Amino acid sequence: MPRLVIVGFIAAALFLPATASAHISLDRLALRGPVVLATSVAESYWKAVPCGGQITVRTDLPVPTSLEPTTDGWVTFNSSLGENDLEAPASTYTQCTISLARWQWPTAKAMINDWNMFCLTVTHEVGHLLGHKHSLVAGSVMAPVFTNEANVPQICRAAGAPLGRRVAGRRGH
Ligand SMILES: [Zn+2]
Repeated sequence: MPRLVIVGFIAAALFLPATASAHISLDRLALRGPVVLATSVAESYWKAVPCGGQITVRTDLPVPTSLEPTTDGWVTFNSSLGENDLEAPASTYTQCTISLARWQWPTAKAMINDWNMFCLTVTHEVGHLLGHKHSLVAGSVMAPVFTNEANVPQICRAAGAPLGRRVAGRRGH
């Protein structure tokens, strides 16, 4: 069974007004796991929260036959123009879901070990949920295909540091 992870609350918490005293550090988010961390990083990257903060992230999924078998992440949503229509204003998106493929990231450990590309992919999918289409601009996170780490945002690289410490701390156990 695919695991369901609701990240809306955590993601929204990162965007408390600047006057709020609460502060959630990347280290603490890292403890919640790579899915929560990547989604929060993505929303920081875009400086926006899609779908009113209600995003379902599904992991460990088979790639639908309608997609290229090398697809590692995809989004589904409803909109004022129907299902999965990026022509519709992103403010009308509901039932927003990010799906992540089993073949690429079957476990949280796989996501952590492949953090830069995982974070890049989640940032890309969050971009779609904000209404962004694919871009052929060099280095864009909205490139349709990633072949290396050239497109990884700096914020992803920085956020990976707490995860790296976790991984290092676990070695030998
Ligand atoms: Zn895409």
